[in-house]
Amino acid sequence: MLIFYDPQCAEYGSSMRPEQPARVLRTAAHLRTTRPEWEFRVPPPASSVAEATLLLAHAPAHLRRLAQPHDFDADTPFFDHIGDHARRSVAAALAAAAHALKQRTPVFSLMRPPGHHATAVQAMGFCYLNQIAIAALHARRALGAARVAVWDFDAHHGNGTEAILHSHAASPDLFFASVHQHPGYPGTGTRDLGPRTRNWPVAPHTPRPAHLEALRASLDAVVAFRPDLILVSAGFDAYARDPITAMTLERDDFATLGRWLAEIRVRHAIPAAAVLEGGYSDDLPLLVEAFLAAWEKDAEPHRP
Ligand SMILES: [Zn+2]
Repeated sequence: MLIFYDPQCAEYGSSMRPEQPARVLRTAAHLRTTRPEWEFRVPPPASSVAEATLLLAHAPAHLRRLAQPHDFDADTPFFDHIGDHARRSVAAALAAAAHALKQRTPVFSLMRPPGHHATAVQAMGFCYLNQIAIAALHARRALGAARVAVWDFDAHHGNGTEAILHSHAASPDLFFASVHQHPGYPGTGTRDLGPRTRNWPVAPHTPRPAHLEALRASLDAVVAFRPDLILVSAGFDAYARDPITAMTLERDDFATLGRWLAEIRVRHAIPAAAVLEGGYSDDLPLLVEAFLAAWEKDAEPHRP
């Protein structure tokens, strides 16, 4: 398992907010202790991300706005150097996508800020730049992946990713699938926007088996699209004890998601890269570990 992680990503924010530095600090410390064989690698610096790459997904005005010292919304304050922090998350996602395509082995970006709520023109929901959308468009443009799918299992709808990728809806080589709590933040994702922009809204308190069924259906749709690369918006806030959602998944369920990705690697030879999105419970390190450990195993293909 390769993990892209730069401790600088913990150098903004506060413990008074759910999206706080301890999320990554505690997860990194836990994984280094329990999984010493996993490789940690510092991603390329913020300055490595070309403006043109950011502009694949974002408007020029949005990039300028990131440098202006005013809060974006109540969840999404301005922090000093937030533009560089967000660019570091992008750099890690790009590196993870490139690694997945080249080495075809599991790779995880353990960075913050998350990205899947950021739209082309707006920072929101703890997100400033949309690294998964940027990575998807960059993989197609520059990394030789003709078809790219995003699978988003965060408990919140990946509205930013959806909007950015759907703006390329005329292109048949991008696919987006999200499974998320509805009603819930940000309120979007109630229906499919098209055959390649798919949503699985799940009601609060839905029992685990039904939530997993939606997750499986969404991943089956991703595989049926026959992508050259799967990019995973890995949020761990559908966990039963997450403080900001009302879902019911347990640690074993995140291991199941990892096992499915392992099966897809073995059966379908489709590589995947995952980036951290949400996940706010104190158990986040255990959930990430369960997901990654199952994903790196060469799982026996599941026979129904
Ligand atoms: Zn979330």
